[in-house]
Amino acid sequence: MIDIEKEEDKTRIIDNLKEKVAHLENIIGLLPGHVYWVDRQNIFQGCNDAHAQFAQLSKRKEIVGKTYHDFWESVACDTELLNLKVMEEGVPYVGEEKVIFPDQHESIYLSHKVPLHNANDDVIGLLGISLDITDRKRMEKELKLAKEAAELANETKTEFIRNMEHDIRTPLCGIMNVVTYLQTLEKDDNKKEFLSDIHIATQELLNYLENIVEFSQITLGAIPLIFREFDFKQLLQSILNLESAAVKDKRIELSLHYEDGIPQSVIGDRFRVHRILLNLISNAIKFTNKGKVQVHVSVHEQSSREIILEIKISDTGIGIHPKYHEIIFEKFVRCDPSNKGVYKGKGLGLWVVKSFIEDLNGSITLESELEKGSVFTCLLPFKLQN
Ligand code: ADP
Repeated sequence: MIDIEKEEDKTRIIDNLKEKVAHLENIIGLLPGHVYWVDRQNIFQGCNDAHAQFAQLSKRKEIVGKTYHDFWESVACDTELLNLKVMEEGVPYVGEEKVIFPDQHESIYLSHKVPLHNANDDVIGLLGISLDITDRKRMEKELKLAKEAAELANETKTEFIRNMEHDIRTPLCGIMNVVTYLQTLEKDDNKKEFLSDIHIATQELLNYLENIVEFSQITLGAIPLIFREFDFKQLLQSILNLESAAVKDKRIELSLHYEDGIPQSVIGDRFRVHRILLNLISNAIKFTNKGKVQVHVSVHEQSSREIILEIKISDTGIGIHPKYHEIIFEKFVRCDPSNKGVYKGKGLGLWVVKSFIEDLNGSITLESELEKGSVFTCLLPFKLQN
């Protein structure tokens, strides 16, 4: 029991309180940032160590009774006005405070200013906590500028690719037309073979060009999805015809197995379907030096309104090591030995395939064994004509 009348108990309570106040003072002193409190006339009543140091005071207590004008004349008005507003309206302020110091250097603070109340709930002053965020703001500004510069560079790159596509595609198509025409005229087998090589190489170049252009456009989300009716089998056949020269040249077999019951026309994004199948079939041919490439189409699921086609592209080529199976659809991934320059390419085709398949809500899986061959299986959904 404490007897408040007893002198020694009184002293003990006072000592205890003094100790607690000192402890609290100590804690306030150590708080980071600028912590300060003023009365209704904006006269400082206290602050933490950091703020005292900033005001070039040797002790915290020296701030009591001083005003902003005693330290930073140029800062005083705006800060005082803000403090007065908080005290008059009784509403806390959280926001940025820009301060220009007498030496003209500018700092930005994130300030929390809260009105202080007495027991009658009258506002008697203000407690402020301000953190210097000048460096953070500078970094934000630099990042914003860097982002804008990167966006501009990206736009320039896209523009360059668009122009390059036009400038390269036109002569390539010209070469293709002339070679196709010469092939029909040529009787000499050796010369026919040379022409066939030019035809294949030009076709490959056109495909790379498409992939590079699509790469930049996919990144920008700039390829619109256009759903319309088309003849799926005819589309496949046109790809096989396009690849026939390469198949003949490599003396491999290319076959199409088209199961019965598949509707002749389906509704889908013809452009994407064409690019998906062309990339997979031309890869199968590129990486197969003996044996065959087979394209097998069947119905995976069908309702009155929708059909999901399963398209398997299998080859008896070089195969893909299991370590690549997870990452092969990422951009610029090329496996042994194509990454050593044995096969031409840029590692973009499968990334384009994957992106387009995702756009169509389809899926693709890979099974492959080194030196035995690969099977890419796509499930592609299409709408059906009512
Ligand atoms: P590119 O063929 O231009 O290198 P792709 O993205 O189409 O780019 O293919 C990435 C890599 O995947 C190829 O470099 C090759 O190593 C491997 N690859 C793709 N398809 C096959 C396949 N059918 N057989 C063996 N390897 C393949």
